[in-house]
Amino acid sequence: MSVLPPSCMPKGSKLWILNLGSLDSDASGVLYGANIFPAHLPPQQHERRSLVMFSALIEHPTAGLILFDTGSCEDAISNWDSTMIECVPRIWQKEINSLPAAIEATGARSIKDVKKVILSHLHFDHAGGLEHFLDTDVEIWVHEAEFKNAFWAAATGIEPSLYSKKYLDVSRLKWRTFSEDHFQVFPGLTLHHCPGHTDGSVVMELRMGDSGTSIFTADLFHVKENYEDGWPAGRLMRDYNAWWRSRQFVKGLVDRTGARVLLGHEPSYMKAFKTSPEYLE
Ligand SMILES: [Zn+2]
Repeated sequence: MSVLPPSCMPKGSKLWILNLGSLDSDASGVLYGANIFPAHLPPQQHERRSLVMFSALIEHPTAGLILFDTGSCEDAISNWDSTMIECVPRIWQKEINSLPAAIEATGARSIKDVKKVILSHLHFDHAGGLEHFLDTDVEIWVHEAEFKNAFWAAATGIEPSLYSKKYLDVSRLKWRTFSEDHFQVFPGLTLHHCPGHTDGSVVMELRMGDSGTSIFTADLFHVKENYEDGWPAGRLMRDYNAWWRSRQFVKGLVDRTGARVLLGHEPSYMKAFKTSPEYLE
């Protein structure tokens, strides 16, 4: 019997990638300067991007089910502002793309069995699914910088469309924070603080016995051009210098570990990854 290196998830661990629908966005939302055309040309057609939303469901043999990101809320009509609904419409089917349905479809029990939720950051398309964990004992883990920034941004209304007070609730969720730059949740599951897209964004590094290392960048890179070419994100960039440093760190991490990578919203990378009901071990 092979002995796993101590930094791996234990034998019996599994990873599913859940498809939680997509957003249809103007390319300028994810690529700086996209859809800006020379002044002498007549109005041009804008490029749009299909931005997948996903969650990683991890089965840990002793700790149980762990969720990395949760997708959007179920009822977008009542929870999103009208500009978001009209300009970034969601392509989503409740029976397939809602968090409970997607978890059920893996065959790995139900959303009620989730013990811990880890969030890359607290934007509505990653944290909206927290609505399923209101008034439960499930621990919600997020970087301290993200926790502070999101509550501040939502409470003052400076970023009204990116956060929702529905899940930014101090009394109905069991919030847990960490402040380290590199935080090991379990042997084999490490979170790296990678600011730029938001103050407290994190990247998840997951090492498994058979499949090796997988890295989940979330919105540090929305699409492949951000990651591969260093094309900065569009209107959702918050700190360019920090983003560049984070990008260099992740590039180095991928080189060192030979990891497969999943970006925040890139369909081609998701296609290359095994998606639920298939899983990695
Ligand atoms: Zn985001």
